[in-house]
Amino acid sequence: MTSVQESRTLHAPMKVEFDYTRSLGPVLSQFMTGLRRRQVTGGVLSDGTVVVPPPEYDPTTHRAISEIVAVGDEGVVRTWSWVAEPVMDQPLDKPFAFALIQLDGADAPLLHAVDVDSPADMETGMRVRVRWAEETVGAITDIACFEPLPSSTDAGSELPNEPGSDAEAVTGIVSPVRLAYDYAASPEESKFFRGLAEGRILGQRCPSCHKVYVPPRGACPVDGVPTTDEVELPDKGTVTTYCIVNVPFLGQKITPPYVSAYVLLDGADIAFLHLILDTEADEVRMGMRVEAVWKPRDEWGTTIENISHFRPTGEPDADYETYKQHL
Ligand SMILES: [Zn+2]
Repeated sequence: MTSVQESRTLHAPMKVEFDYTRSLGPVLSQFMTGLRRRQVTGGVLSDGTVVVPPPEYDPTTHRAISEIVAVGDEGVVRTWSWVAEPVMDQPLDKPFAFALIQLDGADAPLLHAVDVDSPADMETGMRVRVRWAEETVGAITDIACFEPLPSSTDAGSELPNEPGSDAEAVTGIVSPVRLAYDYAASPEESKFFRGLAEGRILGQRCPSCHKVYVPPRGACPVDGVPTTDEVELPDKGTVTTYCIVNVPFLGQKITPPYVSAYVLLDGADIAFLHLILDTEADEVRMGMRVEAVWKPRDEWGTTIENISHFRPTGEPDADYETYKQHL
């Protein structure tokens, strides 16, 4: 969290990303394998129409699509819209048109980019052709974009007869998924994060049910009233529930196995998630008493990461009755 100005709420850039690995199944495998050999294919629906890319199931009968046919790599722009300011990972890094393009031999249009210099170069009904990527690998990005055809070739493309065959089919793709946004903390959360920068854990108490929420929510979800009373909590608490992380994943900072647990701070009514370290993973249990291990003070910021992790205090376990309402 970055502080712009003490009186203002905090905000921080957040990024969520992972690579989604997807197996293709028989229909899309044929489509992607076709792209690798620079051939576009479509699926034949129950009413005889050809759709690109081929859907896996017929939208009317819900039967699996079994007939795949080759279509042309030229077609007609049915409609389009201009992208004046492309964003990251769009097909082109200069202004371009997104268009619905009906390829020769297909009955439904495909959405793709057309590389032209200005909107004046775009027209509904114009003919375009696939510009293939320099290297085709069996992914939708094998179609780099479309480009206008010179008007002398308006006669229509010659359709290939049969889908080709490949020794080795493309059976899976990796789709990077990414979401970047600016997280705006509420006034209550901003106070909580500024408290952490001073080594304090601040919560708020509901004036009606007297429950203590940490981090503070600003309002009690039970009573629907503002939680106005500030409460400073100790950095000691009880493990309510936990999970042992055994699965490695992208961006993981600690080597598995390790424990992620809900810690109910003494005096709080809601547990929060943190790491339990400095003990064997299989030693962690419900009711275990733990305390925060703070990073060196010169590394503190307005972040929950000021607390490196929690570790066992060595006290006797808390009685189940003391935390059973907080699971
Ligand atoms: Zn309440």
